[in-house]
Amino acid sequence: MSKDKQFVTEITPQGEDFSKWYIDVIKKADLMDYSPVRGCIVFRPEGFELWENIQRELDRRFKETGHRNAYFPLFIPESFLQKEKEHVEGFNPELPWVTEAGGEKLEERLAIRPTSETIIGHMYSKWIQSYRDLPLLINQWANVVRWEKRTLPFLRTSEFLWQEGHTAHENEEEARQETMQMLNIYREFVEDFLAIPVIVGQKTPSEKFAGAVDTYSIEAMMKDGRAVQAGTSHYLGTNFAVAFDIKYLDRGNTLQFAHTTSWGVSTRLIGALIMVHGDDRGLVLPPKISPTQVVMIPIGPPKTREQVIARVDELYAELKKAGVRVKVDDRADVSPGWKFNEYEMRGVPIRMELGPRDMENGQAVLVSRITGEKRVVAQSDIVAEIEKMLEEIHRDMFERAGQFRSDHSNSVETLDEMKSLQEEKRGFTLAGWCGSAACEKQVKEETGATSRNIPFEPLEKKTTCLVCGEKAEHTVVFARAY
Ligand code: AMP
Repeated sequence: MSKDKQFVTEITPQGEDFSKWYIDVIKKADLMDYSPVRGCIVFRPEGFELWENIQRELDRRFKETGHRNAYFPLFIPESFLQKEKEHVEGFNPELPWVTEAGGEKLEERLAIRPTSETIIGHMYSKWIQSYRDLPLLINQWANVVRWEKRTLPFLRTSEFLWQEGHTAHENEEEARQETMQMLNIYREFVEDFLAIPVIVGQKTPSEKFAGAVDTYSIEAMMKDGRAVQAGTSHYLGTNFAVAFDIKYLDRGNTLQFAHTTSWGVSTRLIGALIMVHGDDRGLVLPPKISPTQVVMIPIGPPKTREQVIARVDELYAELKKAGVRVKVDDRADVSPGWKFNEYEMRGVPIRMELGPRDMENGQAVLVSRITGEKRVVAQSDIVAEIEKMLEEIHRDMFERAGQFRSDHSNSVETLDEMKSLQEEKRGFTLAGWCGSAACEKQVKEETGATSRNIPFEPLEKKTTCLVCGEKAEHTVVFARAY
């Protein structure tokens, strides 16, 4: 078997074993490695760079909407967590505790933060005195720990990286507006930057954040038909304000509790991006997040090599100047075929080939990672051609993911119908729900699917509950989820 063949067949085909495909790809592309600590991963530079690009873009969008970054401590005193009953009940099973430090037993145990509502609530009660201090709009980029029973690199890890926004407002209306604004920013970001279509909606009470009044989410479909919750935004009401005494003097000089929100996305987005777009040859990275958008590979015999490389370097400079993230691979000891496979596996959106004949004709060959389409373009138009192709690739990836989702979505009236559909092909199932936790639980027990959210814009409105047949209060998307 040739070296090229061997290289590709190391990735298990998606149709054979999707989970194995996923692990093969992230390892092969050097995105991560396992750590000696259970459920924790190492983000290698190739993987961390994806996170940095996500950070940069989201951070810009947060700042544009008036938020500022701050940093709060990693350790949370146990008494803080005890203050909000639902919050502590929800997070307790997943908390790691520090009981000893500096060789001494601590007077009070410290939890390693699973999220920071409590410590931020404590600080906000000091910082907020009057309506003039509101709204308070803060975001934190940090690591958090949730001791998960089941873990999967990026998608569900015990330590993960994320951002958590925490805001305080004068009243419910403003806090709810903020909750929706951030949900919308997540949707736009995930669609425009990661080319992942999402279903936007509200979580059912059993799936909401511990301590929230209402939780909203964006949900994406992976290529095995399973769902990933890609981001959440919570309206916390006055729950944390009451627990932490976040009060302010309103415009009429009366003391009021502030209304707070929180919202977060995590390194889970990296896992989602891989599972939505990847194929049997490896990663497929959307152009806007890809650390390298174009890889230039000079080809041809040794006698023209120098000349070709000189031209490649000129085109490289031109593209770089135009802001395209471009890389040249002119290694002489590796064959072009090997390089083609390598960059396909790494998901680089465009490969540019330039050989002696292209030199004569003033042309270059552009190859799309996603379609394999070859396009011969004039070197004189290289910047415009590349920019156009990157945009087309983004659109194409978004459309393909949307098409896949609609091909793997169905709509049912009864649980029996759903059971057979879920067994056959998984995917998203739209169904009516009466609102009772018992019916929701039965769906999970019998199909393995959980309620993802109550979409704001369902494709159709259901009238009866799929389990009990009573009047449907909501139309819900169910799916097996990561
Ligand atoms: P939450 O605070 O539970 O609303 O979670 C905020 C964000 O972090 C959501 O987008 C979750 O999907 C994500 N998330 C929750 N748990 C994990 C985990 N164990 N690993 C990675 N991401 C997570």
